[in-house]
Amino acid sequence: MRKIFSIILLAGLPATCMAQDSLIMRKISDEIMLHGKCYDDLRVLCKEVGHRLSGSPQAAKAVEWGLEAMQEAGADRAWLQPVNVPHWIRGKEQLKIEFEGSSDKVEIPILSLGNSQGTDGKLLAAGIVMANNFEELEKMPDEAVKDKVVFFNYRFRQDLLHTFHGYVDAGPYRWRGPSVASAKGASAVIIRSVSTGIDDFPHTGSMHYADDVAKIPAVAIGNSSADMLEQKCKTGNVTAYLTSECRMLKDSVRSYNVIGEIEGSVYPNKVVLVGGHLDSWDAGDGAHDDGAGCVQSIEVIRAFKKLGIKPRYTVRAVLFMNEENGLRGGYAYDDSATARGEEHIFAIESDAGGFSPRGFSLAMEDDKARQIRYYRELFKPYGLYDFEQKGGGADISPLHRHGVPAAGLRPDPQRYFDLHHTANDVFEQVNHRELKLGAVAMTQLIYLISNYGLK
Ligand SMILES: [Zn+2]
Repeated sequence: MRKIFSIILLAGLPATCMAQDSLIMRKISDEIMLHGKCYDDLRVLCKEVGHRLSGSPQAAKAVEWGLEAMQEAGADRAWLQPVNVPHWIRGKEQLKIEFEGSSDKVEIPILSLGNSQGTDGKLLAAGIVMANNFEELEKMPDEAVKDKVVFFNYRFRQDLLHTFHGYVDAGPYRWRGPSVASAKGASAVIIRSVSTGIDDFPHTGSMHYADDVAKIPAVAIGNSSADMLEQKCKTGNVTAYLTSECRMLKDSVRSYNVIGEIEGSVYPNKVVLVGGHLDSWDAGDGAHDDGAGCVQSIEVIRAFKKLGIKPRYTVRAVLFMNEENGLRGGYAYDDSATARGEEHIFAIESDAGGFSPRGFSLAMEDDKARQIRYYRELFKPYGLYDFEQKGGGADISPLHRHGVPAAGLRPDPQRYFDLHHTANDVFEQVNHRELKLGAVAMTQLIYLISNYGLK
């Protein structure tokens, strides 16, 4: 009892408040599950705007859509914050493979890796060298790799039950694999997609060239094509025929973060932030990544207004631009917050898919994390139990670096990396109830923190 009492004191909440809070949280849930707009918003964003790579016309259209959606949700103020974003374009791309002893070439579905340089539309033909991991490639003599196409056949670890751990494990093959192969003299790179899927969807995503290497083309292939290529490489010589037009354009493009807020009744100058990212890759609809996080953040504003909840701290929803291939929106937001002397007491991002929420990851001092973990009981009826993971979100990481307590919505992670960065990340893959449950959880947490603060 004494222990419970001391925990209650820590969180600054008497038990009567908790009962009151659970009622308000129930009202939030009822409102969103019965009348929520996030699923309809997602349909419009995915099907009328479409995918929205930074710098593209669709990204510009998404900004207009976002501002209107914030206003319709009832934000006291909604505005655009300028951000200059890189402009990478894909163009046409094709990979054909020829096996020893056969004159037929087999076409394999590919996606060039984001930010990579293509073949300028010319045909690149070269033998394939397979390496199962970085160590295997390092051990090969440079002559064996020179002018060849390196196939990084590193598998996403299916034994890691938390798929984000698998993503962190395999991600370096996408991010720096091209530079590692280029340093050995390779002419191009094919990677096995960073994917839990057992299908043939290639997964794109950001890569980065080290300063001292040639910018060689880099593409991803789906897991079933990779299985086939692996077998062929084991039994004979394989030749790749690659053409791709992708490139980074010289000039950046003026774009925007979209922001909407409800002014705090007691602390108008202290901000509680909720957000997702508005840009996406140029395959699929960018539905789970991260249309879901955007429409859930707008839903927070709408539910507060509809229920007449007056936050003590200012609640601000932010749709960040350019998370995928530059994070410029996150930096621009942080720069502006610093320049304007804004104080952020908490920031949460939803960027892990529109699946059933399981909890919140936390990146903050222990006593603040303890306060949020104390709310765990309140979230149990909604299926949230995991408050132990670390981390916030990419777009709010610049704020966090300046000391702002950060958190991430943690949905069930099992299917995210089947779809992430593929042509299959479409609106139809999002379940309306699961998406709304995520919006409920975010609204409830924002309600608690915008009422009690974070001490
Ligand atoms: Zn994302």
